[in-house]
Amino acid sequence: MKRISAILMSGVLAFSLCACSGNGGGSEKPADTGAVFKAGTYEADGTGYGGSGSPIHVKVTVSDTAIESIEFTAAGETPTVGGAAIPLLVDKVVAAQSTKIDGVTDATFSSNGFFESVNDCLKQAGADPEKLEPKESGSAEAKDVEETYDVVVVGAGGAGMTAAITAKENGKSVIILEKAAVPGGNSSRATGGMNAAATHYQKEQNIEDSPELYYQDTMKGGHDINDPALVKTMAEQSSAAIDWLDSIGAPLSNIGQAGGASTKRQHRPVDENGKILSVGTFLVEHLSATCKDKGIETKFNTRVDKILVEDGKAVGVHGKTDDGANVTIHAKSVVIATGGFGSNPDLIVKYKPELKGYVSTNASTITGHAIAFLEDIGADFVDLEQIQIHPTVVQKDGSLISESLRGDGAILVNAEGKRFCNELLTRDVVSAHVNEQTGSYAWLIVDKNMYEPSTVIQKYVKNGLMTECATIADLAKLMEVDEKVLTETLNKWTECCKNQKDPDFERGNYDAILSDLSHAPYYAVKIAPGIHHTMGGVKINTNAEVIDVKGNVIPGLFAAGEVTGGVHGGNRLGGNAVCDFVVFGRIAGTSASK
Ligand SMILES: Cc1cc2nc3c(=O)[nH]c(=O)nc-3n(C[C@H](O)[C@H](O)[C@H](O)COP(=O)(O)OP(=O)(O)OC[C@H]3O[C@@H](n4cnc5c(N)ncnc54)[C@H](O)[C@@H]3O)c2cc1C
Repeated sequence: MKRISAILMSGVLAFSLCACSGNGGGSEKPADTGAVFKAGTYEADGTGYGGSGSPIHVKVTVSDTAIESIEFTAAGETPTVGGAAIPLLVDKVVAAQSTKIDGVTDATFSSNGFFESVNDCLKQAGADPEKLEPKESGSAEAKDVEETYDVVVVGAGGAGMTAAITAKENGKSVIILEKAAVPGGNSSRATGGMNAAATHYQKEQNIEDSPELYYQDTMKGGHDINDPALVKTMAEQSSAAIDWLDSIGAPLSNIGQAGGASTKRQHRPVDENGKILSVGTFLVEHLSATCKDKGIETKFNTRVDKILVEDGKAVGVHGKTDDGANVTIHAKSVVIATGGFGSNPDLIVKYKPELKGYVSTNASTITGHAIAFLEDIGADFVDLEQIQIHPTVVQKDGSLISESLRGDGAILVNAEGKRFCNELLTRDVVSAHVNEQTGSYAWLIVDKNMYEPSTVIQKYVKNGLMTECATIADLAKLMEVDEKVLTETLNKWTECCKNQKDPDFERGNYDAILSDLSHAPYYAVKIAPGIHHTMGGVKINTNAEVIDVKGNVIPGLFAAGEVTGGVHGGNRLGGNAVCDFVVFGRIAGTSASK
């Protein structure tokens, strides 16, 4: 997204700032007249999520004594993450007259790149950013809010925004409360795609599939402990969910193969050149734009801590803003869409002690605090101990390497330079195989023919997650394995692709493979398992109504997405969570409108 923001402050600014010594390369010091800056407009780049190839560019205008305005372009940032965070930071820096402020949660790359570029400008203007202490905001005490709507939705992730749009389409007044500063939650992180069966895209591409086959794959993948009625609903409504996404301008037309699926059913977005895009940022961008178009208000920085109940019926919620104001929303229906608890180590250890110390792929706001306020009103829960670890996680920062890469042809190679399993087995099984290898890690390898059509892989390389190796010799060096052994492994895999047969590990689905990995350069990343998805959660029925511990519906209360349990059973298949949030987000929005 290309975006320009200009914040022009009017009136005379009377800030008391520390005197600074300029240390910007070759810049002049401000004249010794009490001035803080050498007035002017300065430009600089900072490295954000788009890497050095697509930096954040800022233009900072300063007077003698104040930061007057900041304009930026940030085409390389994810629109719904960094792209949404930078305008907030512009406001904050101008208000604080300092860059010594917190970045936006879960937009760390973008925040750091923005601060880097602004600091560069301030140095050019002769100031030392380290010495510019943040100015007290002096704003009036935060005001409490009390409002009434037909429907209040808690959480602006995929499920919450889908439910809100659906309720609005049904003519209801709707508000969303979101604890983060930007929308998206874990939904923004979804990279691979959305599973759906018997869609018009599959038919157009001659892919045979059915809700029944999708149901069977999901039950099998979830070790048959899933709630069959919920899985059946998801499978049967998945094709209509794809149609609904078409209707809001979010087509998922490319279809790939994901682990545990009998056929190609993982639907993905593509750009104007046909390159595959990350599904999460694409959907969050379209869902949040649709919310805005339909006039749905989202109150950000507002964390809900209580469901209001009268005569056993949910009648609203209470929350608090980051600056301490109380927010009370009265509503006929309440939809809880707060996601899972993958970023809450205490809850992870409580429900699955053996996962102590594992890194997490989740957004930091995904802490599962809804469990407590749902428990308070007697809601029932299922499968909370079912926590998925994902086999391909970068250990230094929890970055996920999408499963779709393996579906498209990536292989996993161990510390001895050898493949060790069918890479398309379910996540729990592949994770167990990785944990059994020397050092409990593996390398995931793709080649030029997979890199070129995939913006996802290109982004991994840009962000330094994957390393480019010109030759197999370079790849062996990176992986610290014997070049001869690695060459044999790659040649053997190319043979498997040619013969459509993998005698060692019986991997199949050659139709979905984009490359036989015989085309240098190669791209590789070292991975190991990390916490990825919390399959358990609050109990719902097929109308997305929340069920209490006595087995009764709690009137007025609905839930959708990762906060719920039952759809994924003991193991979630890649691509099923996005389908879950669209299908059950739609159902929750419809039920909440009745
Ligand atoms: C790295 C990664 C990659 C993934 N890739 C895929 C994929 O390719 N395909 C797939 O199907 N699934 C994928 N998933 C899983 C999928 O993204 C999530 O399960 C799904 O998006 C969850 O959607 P949701 O709307 O339920 O929750 P979220 O999108 O997590 O949204 C929940 C929102 O609620 C807010 N919130 C939480 N508590 C409160 C509170 N008390 N008050 C107010 N707001 C609150 C959060 O801040 C958040 O914005 C991936 C997950 C991760 C982490």
